[in-house]
Amino acid sequence: MSRVFNFSAGPSAFPESVLLQAQQEMLEWRDSGMSVMEMSHRGKHFSIIAEELESDLRGLMAIPDNYKVLFLQGGASAQFSFIPQNLLNGKTKACYLKTGAWSEKAVKDAQSYCDVLVSASSEESKFTSIPDAATWELDEQAAYLHYTSNETIHGVEFQNIPDAKGLTLVSDMSSNILSRHIDVSQYGLIYAGTQKNMGPAGVTVVIVRDDLIGHAGKAVPSVFNYSEQAKNQSMLNTPATYNWYLVGLVLKWLKAQGGVAAIEQHNIAKSTKLYQAIDQSALYSNPVDVAVRSRMNVPFILADESLDKPFLQAAEAQGLFELKGHRSVGGMRASIYNAMTEAGVKALIDFMAEFERTH
Ligand SMILES: *Cc1c(COP(=O)(O)O)cnc(C)c1O
Repeated sequence: MSRVFNFSAGPSAFPESVLLQAQQEMLEWRDSGMSVMEMSHRGKHFSIIAEELESDLRGLMAIPDNYKVLFLQGGASAQFSFIPQNLLNGKTKACYLKTGAWSEKAVKDAQSYCDVLVSASSEESKFTSIPDAATWELDEQAAYLHYTSNETIHGVEFQNIPDAKGLTLVSDMSSNILSRHIDVSQYGLIYAGTQKNMGPAGVTVVIVRDDLIGHAGKAVPSVFNYSEQAKNQSMLNTPATYNWYLVGLVLKWLKAQGGVAAIEQHNIAKSTKLYQAIDQSALYSNPVDVAVRSRMNVPFILADESLDKPFLQAAEAQGLFELKGHRSVGGMRASIYNAMTEAGVKALIDFMAEFERTH
């Protein structure tokens, strides 16, 4: 067996110890006599998995008691529609910051439900920056302000919580949740698909403040009605049980690493070294405003596009996979989520230097 360094943007690399634990527990979880996959979601064993999952996430993120934590299906993309449907509460307008491909999609879906005010957009800079907060156009009649804390495709990350000027703050944290400290109490709602930093695809975490739920319109399907799901511990219907279990294992792994504060230091170290290598080279460059560069997704382009293919081929020969950039941006992208080791980043940096030397 030879496992590679996997720089995929999502689904993405897992901590190896988690995969091994899942393998060990495949046939029998603790002393249950069965695999997690075979358990009733209402049974006593799965109840333990569900309780530990929620309490571990609450602990890691210091989620206050007046927030519900939901584990839903449909991916982060489903939330693009369910957020306006649940949160508009009679209002007709919502504000959105457009800073990359994912917030652009969130805007598009929200437009089916309300007037979307694009409060700021960095489209003109090809999504390589975040507009100065002083220029944002916020409307106090809006139900909320939505932003994407890390733009997975463009490699742009908010380094601070945006000032929503009193509006309810909603954030898509799919690609940087649990990678850095955030103060949950500053938010009305946080959501994230699990396949970047938390585990496999198939679960969407929604963290929502109590007072914001219970106002969904009649047309909202019950499984996507936050208050219905909250009343039923996210088990209004059968949840993605095995995925919950895997997310739970990743959270326990993160706790064992020292939690979010400790992993944040690793993430700073990994990304700083990679950006330094890019900035110091004559072959590679990163187009993003230095102040808002992502710690999770590092896009870079080669000065000579004809080297893209040889670069990717040579990288794979060294066991460095999934470095091709998103088709909309081109070039390369290294996604270095929590589970990417410092050894993996070092191997990439060494490879890049060697490739530059020989080309
Ligand atoms: C991956 C991603 C999504 C989409 O997630 P799905 O689970 O495929 O719907 C949305 N937002 C961001 C920031 C992402 O990185």
